[in-house]
Amino acid sequence: MENFDFVSPTEFVFGRGAEEQVGRKLAEHGARRVLVHFGGGSARESGLIDRVCASLDAAGVEHLELGGVRPNPEIGLIRQAVALCKEAGVDWVLAVGGGSVIDSAKAVANGACIEGDVWELFETKRPNPDVLPIAVVLTIPAAGSEASRNAVVSNDELGRKTGYASDAQRPRLAFMNPELTFTLPPFQTAAGLTDMFAHLLERFFDDYGAVPVTDNLNLSLMRTIRAEAPRVLVEPDNYDARANVMWAGMLCHQGLAGLGRHEDWATHALEHELSALDPSITHGAGLAVMFPAWMEYVCEQNPARFAHYGREVFGLAPTGDAQADALSAIDETRAFFASLGMPTTLAELGVGEDDIQRMLPTLRANKGEVFGSIRRLTLEDAAAVYRLAL
Ligand SMILES: [Zn+2]
Repeated sequence: MENFDFVSPTEFVFGRGAEEQVGRKLAEHGARRVLVHFGGGSARESGLIDRVCASLDAAGVEHLELGGVRPNPEIGLIRQAVALCKEAGVDWVLAVGGGSVIDSAKAVANGACIEGDVWELFETKRPNPDVLPIAVVLTIPAAGSEASRNAVVSNDELGRKTGYASDAQRPRLAFMNPELTFTLPPFQTAAGLTDMFAHLLERFFDDYGAVPVTDNLNLSLMRTIRAEAPRVLVEPDNYDARANVMWAGMLCHQGLAGLGRHEDWATHALEHELSALDPSITHGAGLAVMFPAWMEYVCEQNPARFAHYGREVFGLAPTGDAQADALSAIDETRAFFASLGMPTTLAELGVGEDDIQRMLPTLRANKGEVFGSIRRLTLEDAAAVYRLAL
């Protein structure tokens, strides 16, 4: 097991009515003036923003609101929010939404505490210990951003989408009410399940040997997602299924499922270029296309590990030929994503051969000449993986 340093400062308030405790909990944590940050219309139209604001009012916590965060959150709105926080003396940022809103809130919380432009942090990845504390009311289980150390934002002007990681931006409070996810459209539910599953795959397949305590936790989360996925899609208001999915989404990305391993993350890098190319591409949908292609490209590095995954997650019987078992496991992975209604080819996302060359320069800017772990991918390899996915 590799050395690790693991910080998990998030307090979770989980279950029915969790969001009604927002005001009281924030007041207990010393919040006085909160930026309520959210996305499109649904958080407002469902009455959730009003309920959250009423809870803040009842606890005597001042608040201002800034909505409009889009999927693949953009730096322009983040800069606007940073200016607002500085001007108004905001001391907490409250994200109401899913991964995009939370990631935007993380960028805002960093930006509010530094002198220069917040994009520079994403560009240079330099450490920034001064971050406004962040709270989250989660409405879309997917990205795991409610407890993770990561944020990914887009810069349309530069055609870039890139991440920033720091323990200082892990949320302090996460309110998780599975009932808030009953009305999520099937595609969004499915894309979320795919993203969670992908966060486990990124951690499971690297160049390190077995770490049973971590690996078994990871595999058990994969089995859970596989079992609960059809339940939430068929019965969107099944509380227990939604609760399992919501909690799993957090566990998939908070860090435990990869501790002591190197982790890979090449596929997320490949996907980020797709949604930088076309911000209408949903992260989970991009991952559903890229993961099986990447697996096919790298599996000969360690077919036994892929075979182990196939046995543990899909119950595949070993044939005695690890390479054949690995390929069966990859087929099952593709079929699982397809069963959720996810795309299986880049063509379905409107991405073609010409686009591959367009993505490579920004991929280089984000990841350098080589990246990944189980197999170090060059830009030429990256192009080959994209081609496998066409
Ligand atoms: Zn992801």
